[in-house]
Amino acid sequence: MAGVSAAAKLSPHASVTVLEREPSLGYHSTGRSAAIFIRNYGNATLRALNVIAEPEFIEPIGISDRTLLSPRGQLLFGDDSEIDKLQSYADGSDGLVWLSQAETLEMVPILRIERVASSIYEHSAQEIDVDRMLQGYARLARANGAQIELAQGVESVGFTEGIWTLRTAKDTFQAPVVINAAGAWADNLAVIAGLGRMNLSPLRRSAVMIPSPTGYDTGQWPVFADIAETFYAKPGAGRIMISPADEDPVEPHDAWAEDMVLAEGIDRYERAVTVPVTRVERNWAGLRTFAPDRTPVVGFDRRAQGFFWLAGQGGYGIQTAPALSQITADLVLGRAGSIKADILAAIAPDRFLDI
Ligand SMILES: Cc1cc2nc3c(=O)[nH]c(=O)nc-3n(C[C@H](O)[C@H](O)[C@H](O)COP(=O)(O)OP(=O)(O)OC[C@H]3O[C@@H](n4cnc5c(N)ncnc54)[C@H](O)[C@@H]3O)c2cc1C
Repeated sequence: MAGVSAAAKLSPHASVTVLEREPSLGYHSTGRSAAIFIRNYGNATLRALNVIAEPEFIEPIGISDRTLLSPRGQLLFGDDSEIDKLQSYADGSDGLVWLSQAETLEMVPILRIERVASSIYEHSAQEIDVDRMLQGYARLARANGAQIELAQGVESVGFTEGIWTLRTAKDTFQAPVVINAAGAWADNLAVIAGLGRMNLSPLRRSAVMIPSPTGYDTGQWPVFADIAETFYAKPGAGRIMISPADEDPVEPHDAWAEDMVLAEGIDRYERAVTVPVTRVERNWAGLRTFAPDRTPVVGFDRRAQGFFWLAGQGGYGIQTAPALSQITADLVLGRAGSIKADILAAIAPDRFLDI
């Protein structure tokens, strides 16, 4: 998502080539997300980026002929001992409403009554059509003349006289600017380019898909989670996705879910609901790659001319893509953008560099 969205924004003004190691787009984190837009998700910088991103989801000009969002909502519940946690989440958020125990159970009738003292509900949380978004950015980039090269894993990166040379097993590519949008592999790419790491941590997050409990129409239920985030569930028509909300640090790889992590997550889910899980239809895992301050890393690396980071999107890389791709285009093209300086400083790679 990061590379292709940046290509879409840059391609009207520059010659752009996207190099993707896999034979298809969206094979890694982008194709494995929960596909949710939550305006109040993440720290203050991320919340500002979410707000900047939202209009492009609603009116994705050039990307799709209709909104990329559909209604879902998000409900965070807590028991008597967790009211403080609910309060502090609500204090830092916009547009949330408090629901009583009865209102909460009306919205998600399978929640166990003893687990719910009250809840906070974010009506504006929405489902993202990630595939339409990704394909729309790719189509736009290609229409503007960009090349999207699949099955082209970058194996070496060199810099001479203002030009970067990237080699794959098949071809050689040259450009004055390289955008490192390699997801969980962004630090590895920086290392082969001769730069240091940003200490990005790929954290594995797993999920299962289960059939909806018999007798319930889950199509209109919101995403629901305990405020301690020991799991979350995303209902849809006929199915519920459950995530153990795991964050296990791993090396970048083609991620898969561990049975024990899934079993523990399902157990935590079952302790919050009245209907047991009897069948798992499928499971998967993906990597959410975080910088140490859990804020994206976006901007030129001042140690190397023309080396740009677009990485560390963590659990927010789909919902922030419209904002981060716009910032990328503005910075790469040297345009005066409309993004506030404090946001640019908060995401700049400089914050981790002492030189
Ligand atoms: C279970 C789960 C739920 C999530 N839910 C949400 C959500 O609801 N909302 C949200 O906004 N975000 C969510 N996320 C996070 C989101 O998926 C990521 O932040 C986002 O997909 C990151 O996009 P990316 O393009 O940086 O990474 P990726 O999609 O991983 O793309 C990076 C690409 O770089 C390629 N690459 C790496 N090295 C090289 C190389 N040397 N040469 C060529 N290509 C290379 C890889 O093959 C890969 O395709 C979730 C993630 C997970 C795992």
